[in-house]
Amino acid sequence: MRNTVVIVGAGPRGTGILERIAANAPAGQAGWDFATGTPLDIHLVDPYPPGGGRIWRQDQSPLLWMNSQAEDVTMFGDESVRLAGPLHTGPTLHEWAGIAGRTFADRRLQGGYLNWVYEKSLAALPSGITVHYHPRRALRVTGPRKGRQQVWLDGSAQPLSADLVVLALGHLDAALDEEQRALADHARRHGLTYLPPDYTADSDLTALAPGEPVLVRGFGQAFVDLMVLLGEGRGGRFEKQGGDPAELTYRPSGREPVLYVGSRRGVPYHSKIGYALAGERPPLPRFFGPAEVAALLARRGQPSEAGGSGGGLDFRRDAWPLVAKELGFAHYHRLFTAHPERTRAGWTWAAFEKAYAEANPYGPDLGVLAAVAVPAPADRLDLAALDRPLAGVRYAALPAFQERLRSHVRADLARRHHPAHDADLAVFFALLSVYGQLVRLGDIGTWWHGFFSFMASGPPGPRLRQLLALSRAGLVRFLGAGMTVTARPGAYAATSRTVPCSVTARALVEARLPDPAGNRVRDPLLARLYADGAAATPAGLLAVDPDDFRVLDRTGRAHPRRFALGPYTDARGAATFSRPRTDSPVIRQNDAVARAVLGFLRDQGCPAAA
Ligand SMILES: Cc1cc2nc3c(=O)[nH]c(=O)nc-3n(C[C@H](O)[C@H](O)[C@H](O)COP(=O)(O)OP(=O)(O)OC[C@H]3O[C@@H](n4cnc5c(N)ncnc54)[C@H](O)[C@@H]3O)c2cc1C
Repeated sequence: MRNTVVIVGAGPRGTGILERIAANAPAGQAGWDFATGTPLDIHLVDPYPPGGGRIWRQDQSPLLWMNSQAEDVTMFGDESVRLAGPLHTGPTLHEWAGIAGRTFADRRLQGGYLNWVYEKSLAALPSGITVHYHPRRALRVTGPRKGRQQVWLDGSAQPLSADLVVLALGHLDAALDEEQRALADHARRHGLTYLPPDYTADSDLTALAPGEPVLVRGFGQAFVDLMVLLGEGRGGRFEKQGGDPAELTYRPSGREPVLYVGSRRGVPYHSKIGYALAGERPPLPRFFGPAEVAALLARRGQPSEAGGSGGGLDFRRDAWPLVAKELGFAHYHRLFTAHPERTRAGWTWAAFEKAYAEANPYGPDLGVLAAVAVPAPADRLDLAALDRPLAGVRYAALPAFQERLRSHVRADLARRHHPAHDADLAVFFALLSVYGQLVRLGDIGTWWHGFFSFMASGPPGPRLRQLLALSRAGLVRFLGAGMTVTARPGAYAATSRTVPCSVTARALVEARLPDPAGNRVRDPLLARLYADGAAATPAGLLAVDPDDFRVLDRTGRAHPRRFALGPYTDARGAATFSRPRTDSPVIRQNDAVARAVLGFLRDQGCPAAA
């Protein structure tokens, strides 16, 4: 008799769970000795190579970079991570690859690191555990709550039979929403090009012709990937300019289309910060830690004013003021301790901290306190202004707006690369801390994730310099904030709040990842899971137990044999790579799943459990 576990998805998450199984499985660690007891077969299923999986596979353009610096990416825990299982340390990407810590590695290199972690984890497994890799897609999972599960694979008549199934499906494709369907239909009827949300490396960009205007909706990472593949990817080159060594000139190949880009905010995400924090990190969590999350969770359980249960928590109303207080604490801690000359005479950090702690976050008090104690508005944290940098900005025509947006990007680059503004870096650490805490709240809607990405997950500085060069070359044109797109006879038309004139084009690209929420799930495995009774949260995410990540049904019962983790679940708060020394929630989650899996096998009647 052999125990069997199927892990669907062999990207970073599947690999990380394997690493934790290898750490927890040796004799005594999880109460079960696989070397001497019942052996375990782990079937790893993914059409893409294990380690990197789809996103980090090694056969993709070397022009596509990570937006994390190599020293900030690790697949291993460290002393900061509150692990139940044993800590196995290992190199960060930068240590493994022997590259400078601040390098933005290309995705292929990260794929190499992930593949190495995969091989290392296999080698660390005790002798009773064998991994079988299946380069196939899993189509559905069937089986009763109390019995073995069947995992049906594409192209295979017989299912894999398993004691347990772990779903690490990652970024999934999605069906088009109503607006996208209408825009796609319009393309079919009029012979236009419409590229819906996709992982850019997988999009077929050949229909975007040289010199042709292309409307692009979205200014995050997918836009940067698109800009790279249609510029350098088509033979263009960046050259250093004479005066400022960081300033670039773009030499076109002549094969580039002209991108008209806009979005809700109308600006690119904030540049990655280009220096390290000298001295003390802000002592976090302070105003948004486990106690505040527990109180919010309790509130979620209460009936909402409109009736019904589970609606008692509104993220913007209830959680955001506490989060904003935490971000402000980090900001002012840094300002007062590192730059006291920029605070008002007579205010010490101790005095400010006391007043700040007493201030009610659900009102104007914090803003009033900052205005009293910090003279320069640029030194106060104004989250609303940061979130909507083009609020109130209006231009009559596009050409005049172009230089305005370039100066916004230049100012952002300058600020994010100068340690005089290291309160920004303190806020970045607070964003990470909050992110880790929010994981336990599950589905909190989409606003926070958008804000976090905009503030903390923006492009490397060199990418923004490339954007400036492409803009000066006339190959990227900025449309502004509040962009909307409509179908016109034979074209698409875009306009924005910032520049309310209309630009028409025969091609439209939705530059963002698919959102497989709710009724837009296209993945047959996930669709079948919902059809079989798995619960979706209000935002359409797969509901999982926040402690061991078992899949929940609509009555809230955990499925004893099915686990799920990743961006399509309400544990998606932890959907980035782990950063060293930040008590990474990703590694904690992987550890919890690995231990729950091993614990289940132990309790299933293994002699070691007796
Ligand atoms: C383009 C992009 C760039 C990113 N860059 C960064 C970055 O620089 N830094 C950072 O911290 N985070 C980054 N992230 C976020 C995060 O680190 C990644 O999302 C990470 O890849 C998540 O790992 P995962 O294993 O959960 O998902 P994925 O990487 O999506 O892996 C899931 C795997 O499951 C497989 N799969 C899915 N369905 C099935 C099925 N039915 N049968 C079999 N296999 C299946 C897929 O083929 C895939 O290989 C990025 C995300 C994206 C999309």
